[in-house]
Amino acid sequence: MARLHLFDLDGTLLHGTSAPVEISRQLGLEAEAVALDHAVGAGLIDPPEYARRAHALWVELTEAHVVAAFEGAPWLARIREVWAEIRRQGDYCAVVSLSPSFFVERLIGWGAHAAHGSRFPAVPFTEPVDPTGVLSAAAKVVIADRLCGEFGVTRAECIAYGDSSSDRDLFGAVPISVAVNADHHLSDIATHSYTGKDLWEAYELACHAR
Ligand SMILES: [Mg+2]
Repeated sequence: MARLHLFDLDGTLLHGTSAPVEISRQLGLEAEAVALDHAVGAGLIDPPEYARRAHALWVELTEAHVVAAFEGAPWLARIREVWAEIRRQGDYCAVVSLSPSFFVERLIGWGAHAAHGSRFPAVPFTEPVDPTGVLSAAAKVVIADRLCGEFGVTRAECIAYGDSSSDRDLFGAVPISVAVNADHHLSDIATHSYTGKDLWEAYELACHAR
């Protein structure tokens, strides 16, 4: 039976940072984005409000900034190698993130079968963010179920990788979960825990659980 590996992006594939912070860094607005991350992490604002404020921060954003943010971001090592191995095994890999779709979807180019993020308008922005397209922790589970249908697997074949509270619902819905550079709130409910900068090592923990 094929498996479906579901990866979070911010703090999981990216080490110690988020896509919005990396995007904002290109505009000299890193501190503002870090403050937004703290506010949403503390539950002071919800994901739609976070997206609205990030969009407002990025009025000058161009495609070149997005490319530079993506290429310069501190990715974990061996992401492409892990996804190539997953494909070689006949399994599936997908990224599901609350971060903007225009950043998340670039990971299709690295070998993910699917990549879903919060729906943002095209860059440079001429339209506002539609709050109904912004993802939540619960939406991650809905998308995981939809991907199961697309790939012909069930939740019993899913493995989730994540780092924070937005991964809690998904970790509760699948049999194998790997907390990656997470604090104890998440690692306590995960079946496996990894600290480090090499995705291959996190992937091996999940493989040995088979
Ligand atoms: Mg995360």
